[in-house]
Amino acid sequence: MNRAFIFLLLWLVPVICVWGAQTTVEGARLSSTAEKTRVVLDARAPLEHRIFTLSDPDRVVVDLANARLAGSLPKPDGADAMLVGLRSGVRDQHHLRIVLDLKRGARVKSFVLPPEAGRSHRLVIDLLPNADAKGRIQAPVPRLTAASVRRAGELLIAIDAGHGGADPGAIGRRGTREKDVTLAIARKLAALVEREPGMRPLMIRDGDDYVGLRQRVEKARKHRADLFISIHADAFTNDRAHGASVFTLSFNGASSEAARWLADRENRADLIGGHALRTSDDVLASVLLDMTQNATIEHSTEAAKAVLARLASVGDLHQREVQRAGFAVLKSPDIPSMLVETAFISHPDEELRLRDAAHQQRLAEAILSGVRHYLSKYPPPGLLTASVREAAARRHVIHPGDTLSEIAARYHVSLSSLRSHNGLTTDTIRVGQVLAIPGDS
Ligand SMILES: [Zn+2]
Repeated sequence: MNRAFIFLLLWLVPVICVWGAQTTVEGARLSSTAEKTRVVLDARAPLEHRIFTLSDPDRVVVDLANARLAGSLPKPDGADAMLVGLRSGVRDQHHLRIVLDLKRGARVKSFVLPPEAGRSHRLVIDLLPNADAKGRIQAPVPRLTAASVRRAGELLIAIDAGHGGADPGAIGRRGTREKDVTLAIARKLAALVEREPGMRPLMIRDGDDYVGLRQRVEKARKHRADLFISIHADAFTNDRAHGASVFTLSFNGASSEAARWLADRENRADLIGGHALRTSDDVLASVLLDMTQNATIEHSTEAAKAVLARLASVGDLHQREVQRAGFAVLKSPDIPSMLVETAFISHPDEELRLRDAAHQQRLAEAILSGVRHYLSKYPPPGLLTASVREAAARRHVIHPGDTLSEIAARYHVSLSSLRSHNGLTTDTIRVGQVLAIPGDS
């Protein structure tokens, strides 16, 4: 289902992203043959773009970041097999959207061409007829319903702030409640994900609400999330216990005493909230069987490893290896899932840090960085995003508003090594400049 959906997207929605500086689209050119209609956008700099299709009516949406349109768009020939018309709009003041209205559903291919022979930067979009009527069955176009927050070509990251409402979670010595800390970190993570090209957050709870553990899983599955991250900051009987750990689901029970203790605690939350387990126990039972043979848990582990490695740069680790436990919230059959214990709220120093907005931000950044790293190693087919490519290539193209220190933080490298690696003598950077990111981690 989730994978099938991704493959469907792959087929229908080729997504190619290229980073570039703020730029002007100087115009569009159209040409058509019996096989295809071609739209070429000419620009002064590389176009950072995203292309997806929508149906009902059929259209292709081309989003261009940091771009504006000079002049007007051409009108297609009435005889054109694919195109009805082109229109444009401005999004968030800085971004350009060009919509190609279609006569019928089309396959879309796109590629970019660098300047050559007097030509500027070009984004080429080919519209091809869908498989012919007699031939293969046309794949249904995924409908974007009002209930779905997923956008075509984007990865949906479910962010689950642990506990909430009647269930405060663990409580620190100073009275810090886990449910407040988890929500604060989750919101910061969601804001980062929102800014990340090709990703979109789904908050499982976005207020002080009680949400049952099964409901959390169901919400993520309903929206077809690609990754599920549950955020916690638990207590332990020993108040010297400290540091972060990351859990994935185990089949055979917890892999350590602490993990088992925590698993019991988390599972108990359903009772605290007063909700009976009724709707989906059967589903979950069969799901567990399926999981023994599918790759979800492997992906969960890879993603969890990457996040754990990044958390090590923010603070101590409680466990250096990914832990496994029977957390109910991790039991999605088809969504790689992890539970991040950011720290122990029962440890006096960690309680203080957990209350600190700057530390919460660092935790959120570390989690996102791990997610990005995981996706660079295991990209869903066809959904390689610009940032994932960048992370994989260890290079960063400067965008408006970027600063050297932010870039260093984002890639978890020191400012000085970033400077020396790129031979920078000052902190002045310019939009469009490409920085090499030192070392892999
Ligand atoms: Zn918790």
